[in-house]
Amino acid sequence: MAIDQIDCVFCKIIEGELPAKLVHEDDQVIAFKDIHPKAEVHLLLVPRTHIASLEQLEIKHERLVSHLLLLLPDLAHQQGLQDGFRTIINTGRGGGQEVDHLHIHLLGGSQLPGF
Ligand code: IMP
Repeated sequence: MAIDQIDCVFCKIIEGELPAKLVHEDDQVIAFKDIHPKAEVHLLLVPRTHIASLEQLEIKHERLVSHLLLLLPDLAHQQGLQDGFRTIINTGRGGGQEVDHLHIHLLGGSQLPGF
């Protein structure tokens, strides 16, 4: 395991070393409830492969990226979000990223303020 993965909280969830409220898993991706939800529904969609952030994505991840994006509306509907949802990808400290494992926030369930 690479050094940056050893202390990665999301890698630990993926490996089953830390608990999480999983809502989806497949061979490429897992999704679970955010531990500090900022909306009625707040999920994190996380690739199983440790990719630190959007900035580390490469062309070889093309299929994974499509899979992540295509899953979002399915997960939103599965969570009862029929009237829309918000997705956020924080990148780097300046972008508010706290966990250095690429993830997409999926939020909804109440009227979210404009951005
Ligand atoms: P970031 O600021 O985009 O990196 O968001 C990281 C998110 O991970 C935050 O919303 C945290 O609440 C969430 N988080 C951190 N640790 C855990 C955990 O163990 N389980 C679920 N969510 C977590």
